Amino acid sequence: MSTTYDVIIVGAGIVGCACAHQCSQAGLKVLILDQGPVGGQSTGAGMGHIVTMDDSPDQLALTHYARRLWLELAEDLPAHVEFQRCGTLWVAADAEELDAVKRKVSVYQSAGSKAQVLDARTLHEEEPHLNPAMLGGLLIPEDAVLYPPNAARYLVDRARSFGAELRTGVAVRQIGDKGSVTLGDGSSVEAGLILNAAGCGAPALTPHVPVRPRKGHLVVTHRYPGFVRHQMIELGYLKSAHSVSSDSVAFNVQPRATGQILIGSSRQYGDDSQTIHHGLLSRMMAQACHYMPEIGALSVTRTWVGFRPATPDKRPLIGPSLVSDKVWLATGHEGLGIATSLATGRLVADMIVGRTPEIPIAPYSPARVTQENVVHE
Ligand SMILES: Cc1cc2nc3c(=O)[nH]c(=O)nc-3n(C[C@H](O)[C@H](O)[C@H](O)COP(=O)(O)OP(=O)(O)OC[C@H]3O[C@@H](n4cnc5c(N)ncnc54)[C@H](O)[C@@H]3O)c2cc1C
Repeated sequence: MSTTYDVIIVGAGIVGCACAHQCSQAGLKVLILDQGPVGGQSTGAGMGHIVTMDDSPDQLALTHYARRLWLELAEDLPAHVEFQRCGTLWVAADAEELDAVKRKVSVYQSAGSKAQVLDARTLHEEEPHLNPAMLGGLLIPEDAVLYPPNAARYLVDRARSFGAELRTGVAVRQIGDKGSVTLGDGSSVEAGLILNAAGCGAPALTPHVPVRPRKGHLVVTHRYPGFVRHQMIELGYLKSAHSVSSDSVAFNVQPRATGQILIGSSRQYGDDSQTIHHGLLSRMMAQACHYMPEIGALSVTRTWVGFRPATPDKRPLIGPSLVSDKVWLATGHEGLGIATSLATGRLVADMIVGRTPEIPIAPYSPARVTQENVVHE
């Protein structure tokens, strides 16, 4: 069988769609395969916060680069992507978190990101429904939010406008290390390179991919326009999101363009069921009510769970796999896959066509899996 495609992308979540967009725009012939619809897994369950995060210099480099790409794309995005540059407001509840604000502002500014310290008075002017006990905050004004499944559909439509082919409802049973995929019906398709962007499904297709699902709950309310103005996160999130040994919840709310409010979030390993964990959900809502007491009086439309594709060192896997130079990875983005999808797509396309990437790629290389002997805690 002759090679028809330059790249076959397995997975039409936002990461696969962003890679398809960038690869096809770079002139590559691309086929995207997904067993379900576009954005039907992690992407459809996510919150859509385009956030710059400074847990590590590598994370800051990737999220900052990615946000720049989103801001460049913003004016082309159709209304149904619901892109809003509402900013991130990190909320400090105690003196320790207020100290963290002072440290973080210079980290963001030295990376070239706008960042502003808010005293208690300004914080409450910005967000009048916050608990008056909150002490201050850090505003990152260029961060944004969007509606992830529609963003994925937009990116794949852009890819198709450059000639990419999309096939949904097509399961990939196997990825061959010589550049082929075997489909559920037993047929196979070949390409110069296979990109495994199957999210939590990636390890089933490529050996030694250290990704495992990290469950999260979200709640969406009825419409309360203006109740929340920024994406708000407690600074305590920095402690809880890192906890790999225990379930955690954090105050994390988002104003949707519809006027609805998304309320999150929880993090849980070891529970791969689709069922709602009512104990954890109660803790999550209690945390939200602690930060915004009136949230308890709002009506809820829906509650759901999703799974983040998590790596042990909290960095995604982007580039050639350890299996073969014809099998590449773009997965493991955990809770930042919407935010960093555009950067991932750009880095993948840069590497394939031989362009110089704008940021160093080594920190995200799957090669580190052996180099650093990465294991899940
Ligand atoms: C509660 C929650 C909140 C979140 N909030 C945010 C946020 O605010 N900001 C942010 O940046 N990120 C957030 N995330 C994380 C984000 O949703 C993910 O990192 C991102 O969606 C991962 O995208 P992906 O394309 O890698 O995976 P997915 O969206 O899961 O896409 C993978 C695709 O591969 C397909 N697939 C798998 N196996 C096969 C196979 N064998 N054959 C064919 N197709 C296959 C699946 O059907 C799926 O469509 C959140 C996640 C959760 C759960």
